[in-house]
Amino acid sequence: MSQDPAQVFQFAPYLSAWQVDGDIHVGGLPPHAAVIEDFPEYLPDFIAFLSGERTLAEAQRWLMDRGLGAEDSATVTEELREAGFLVRALPDPDSRYSRHHLYFQSQGIDPADAQHKLSQSTVGLIGTGGIGSNVATLLAAAGVGHMVISDGDTVELSNLTRQTLYSEGAVGQLKVEVAAARLREINSEVKVTPVPLGFDNADLVSNYFADCDFIVLSADTPREIHEWISSKAVALGIPYSTAGYIEGYAVVGPLVVPGETACYECSRNEHAIFGELRGDASSLRQLNPKRQAPSFGPLNFYVASVQVNEAIRYLTGLPTRTMGTRQAIDFATYEATEEHYQRRADCPTCSSAGPVSATPVPAASLDQLPAIAEQYAAERAEASFNSLLLDPLIARLVSAAGDGQRALDIGCGTGENSRMLGALGYGVTAVDIEPAMLRTANERTADAGIEYRLAGIDEIPRSQTNDLVLCLNVLDWVEDLDGAIDAIRGSLRPGGRAIIAVPHPFKDSGGWLKKWDGRRWRYDDFSVTGHYFSEGPIAKSREDAHGETTVERTVTFKRTATTYVNAFLSAGFALLGYHEPAPTVQADAPEILLEKSMRVPYFLLLDLMLPETK
Ligand SMILES: [Zn+2]
Repeated sequence: MSQDPAQVFQFAPYLSAWQVDGDIHVGGLPPHAAVIEDFPEYLPDFIAFLSGERTLAEAQRWLMDRGLGAEDSATVTEELREAGFLVRALPDPDSRYSRHHLYFQSQGIDPADAQHKLSQSTVGLIGTGGIGSNVATLLAAAGVGHMVISDGDTVELSNLTRQTLYSEGAVGQLKVEVAAARLREINSEVKVTPVPLGFDNADLVSNYFADCDFIVLSADTPREIHEWISSKAVALGIPYSTAGYIEGYAVVGPLVVPGETACYECSRNEHAIFGELRGDASSLRQLNPKRQAPSFGPLNFYVASVQVNEAIRYLTGLPTRTMGTRQAIDFATYEATEEHYQRRADCPTCSSAGPVSATPVPAASLDQLPAIAEQYAAERAEASFNSLLLDPLIARLVSAAGDGQRALDIGCGTGENSRMLGALGYGVTAVDIEPAMLRTANERTADAGIEYRLAGIDEIPRSQTNDLVLCLNVLDWVEDLDGAIDAIRGSLRPGGRAIIAVPHPFKDSGGWLKKWDGRRWRYDDFSVTGHYFSEGPIAKSREDAHGETTVERTVTFKRTATTYVNAFLSAGFALLGYHEPAPTVQADAPEILLEKSMRVPYFLLLDLMLPETK
């Protein structure tokens, strides 16, 4: 990478660095926290030196003055950069947005680029009450370029517990007029367009919010408001999020990204855990017309804060937790509950013609494979659920090959199981669709009886020659399950055996609640956040053996165990064994892998056989 020699660096200003009891402690929490135990004598002084702003040449000169060679000096400096400890110094440490810039930098994005994106963004706020007015304040302070704010209400005395944009003197005035004036006082760089109208028809969105890059909906009347904004935002291709509260719960999301996530119509009958009304709207009868929402200042600020965080993250390109997900937080205990919504292929709102619905059902994210390949190769070289759970089980199930027996390893990855089969005497053909995986597999393989090929499951020959097919963690990436099973069947000789594993569908129906205990991640609670019985594309992230997220989002296909078993039985296979591998008591693996897989099944493995005569 070419480097501007005048570029100035410094030890990350947002991280603490302490020397204590012979160790160096950097930062406090993941992903930055590190304890450096064995370090060269010069390192504490070097960190202190880097606390000022230095060019790379100055940093290396400092090391060379203490006796390091030029190459070592460059390596040490580069290692500090790779660890995220040595970062570009920001041009003006006391400028208006400087503290936000440090935050952006700590999140791994370029601060100048993030600020530019915000300054070029238009955000629409529907409702400038308890949540909307606080969203507006934070967005203006953050430097969002343009805000369109709509509300038909005037300021009332009972608003003042939570709508701090308004003061006693503003009672009786239009909220949007007061808000616009106050927001310009907070940040004169921000353009504010007030729309003094209540939301009484869907056209408000197309008339006033069509140029928005993001819309926050924090109004809940009339009842049709969610349908109106969803249909218009989807038609206009504008991402939007809902922010509000239900009694003592803060509710944020889902962030609807047209064409990518479920829209309101897709998900309205999935709103299961929040006790929303279902049924025919025309049959509704209001029984408590005196109902008044218990609006609580801290709860309003909290919701606004989470929503602004999500909006800024979305606009600056950071991952967003509420995308396609609604989160409810019990405001007495801060326990969070989530619902994840999936797109419906037959949705009347978002599956219609036009660019928005170009991908009505997201395909498995095969473009994530290169990122996964790197992670997978590293895991396979150290410790992973595969080595802890699948490898020992397969070693038990498969015995030595007879004369001339052949095996096919579909989705061989970096070749661990191909080599196991080779060692058992099989002639092995191993296929994968990821070139980087195959390169690593080749590098790690000495056995000339193993042949690696670049091919997908739909490209394997129907040779009917293999005695054994191994197909691990492939079918969950495949949309056409029956086609894939047909390919496996076609590659096997009569009487041949297939060993199939997929990520366990129970595990894929939920997730762990992670807690940092000061030293490592703890996994105490697993909860089912989706529906075990629902099938289709699911988004999930990937973690390493230390609990650090390594791939933010992959999309694969989830099916129940019943579906997998019955699909193979229908294709003529006999089931020899059904396995949900757990670690053995003497297994040697990182604590986190053991703790998770002792409580939740990570794989479903099917041991199958074709009849002798087809
Ligand atoms: Zn939809």
